[in-house]
Amino acid sequence: MIDLVPIQIIPGSGGSGASSFRREKFVPYGGPDGGDGGRGGDVILMADEGLTTLAHLRHRQVYRAEGGKRGQGGHRHGGNGKDVLIKVPIGTVASVDGGETSWDLDVAGARVVAASGGSGGRGNARFANSIRQAPNFAERGLPGDALDVQLELKLLADVGLIGLPNAGKSTLLRAVSRAMPDVADFPFTTLEPVLGVVDLGIDAFVMADLPGLIEGAHEGAGLGLEFLRHVERTRILVHLLDASSADPLADYETIRRELELYNIQLVEKLEVIVFNKIDLPEARENASILKDRLPNAEVMEISGATGEGTQALIKRLQQFIQESAAKSATEIETRELPTLRPEPRDRIAVEAVDGVFVVHGKKAEQDAIKLGEGGYDALDELQGRLGRMGLRKAMRQAGASPGDRMRVGDVDLEWHG
Ligand code: GDP
Ligand code: MG
Repeated sequence: MIDLVPIQIIPGSGGSGASSFRREKFVPYGGPDGGDGGRGGDVILMADEGLTTLAHLRHRQVYRAEGGKRGQGGHRHGGNGKDVLIKVPIGTVASVDGGETSWDLDVAGARVVAASGGSGGRGNARFANSIRQAPNFAERGLPGDALDVQLELKLLADVGLIGLPNAGKSTLLRAVSRAMPDVADFPFTTLEPVLGVVDLGIDAFVMADLPGLIEGAHEGAGLGLEFLRHVERTRILVHLLDASSADPLADYETIRRELELYNIQLVEKLEVIVFNKIDLPEARENASILKDRLPNAEVMEISGATGEGTQALIKRLQQFIQESAAKSATEIETRELPTLRPEPRDRIAVEAVDGVFVVHGKKAEQDAIKLGEGGYDALDELQGRLGRMGLRKAMRQAGASPGDRMRVGDVDLEWHG
């Protein structure tokens, strides 16, 4: 059972802008016509109703989105890179920077742009103005920064087992699933739902023993949020009845009343009524008589102890899960796309290091990437941009005077002042 998967995601780099001039017959000097580069693709995480584990991500560690295309002459812009969509099960938490930033993909269709693609460079046509009529440089596209993402699936149950104490919930869960001790550390200690993964070959679903619902109620214990989340997420309730009890139908009503007390919506959940312990003769007899008194319900008979009827129950539950997944897939609501990384700020800072004035700032460093190798005019443009970000003040504060050496990213410049 995979519930923790580290991946690396790499958004696409932006395409570079083109530096180009129009060529026409009989026109010696055409105007600049270099188009912009396209945006790099984003890497997007999305909660998908159809998935129950992170196992499909285990075999590949790196997810790379497509780069943007280069701009071309004739004002042709490069195409944007394709996004990569990584589907994860509902309940996945994606975190970066050791958990400093994290996202809860807890609703079907919830999406997060975990890493946005680099922006494309602008072509030289953009830099023409009345003074600079023939700009001979273009911006480079920005690289997509790789990001390590930790995906963690907080298992939520598809099927919830309810019933009075001793109905046989724990026994059934143990019989049909692999128990998951490592997910049992939920914050509520006394009312811990025990989760089990019911393995169906390629498919699997999660079944939870929900003892707290009733047993905790009598003690007035509060149900944790985590617990309620479990119950809410549960698509189906399996209502287990001890068919050998004195009055199984009264037991049934007791539980239904409790459900109603907690949350009216729980009562409306799809429910399968299961007569348990039919290995006992009196239970088998009770079950066959009482079945007809529950005309509108889906009723099954099993023995968690001997395994009789449990496979049929599992099959039926799987069917229900698939049906309800198909139904909710059509109701997917897409949320606003939050971006995991804040947008670069314009602010800059200058620090003197061995006689060189080093300019720090995300935007400044990005501009250095875009323009650093574009030649003299491009460097001039770079200084102009840094100037608008407040370079002059920051340089003076650091003790620089015009003509001093400065560095932005990998680019060395002489400060104009
Ligand atoms: P829970 O309180 O609902 O979790 O019930 P348990 O699984 O702990 O079972 C309560 C008692 O019923 C235990 O003594 C079990 O051995 C017994 N039991 C559970 N399932 C069956 C069954 O299918 N047949 C019989 N004969 N006894 C069962
Ligand atoms: Mg139990």
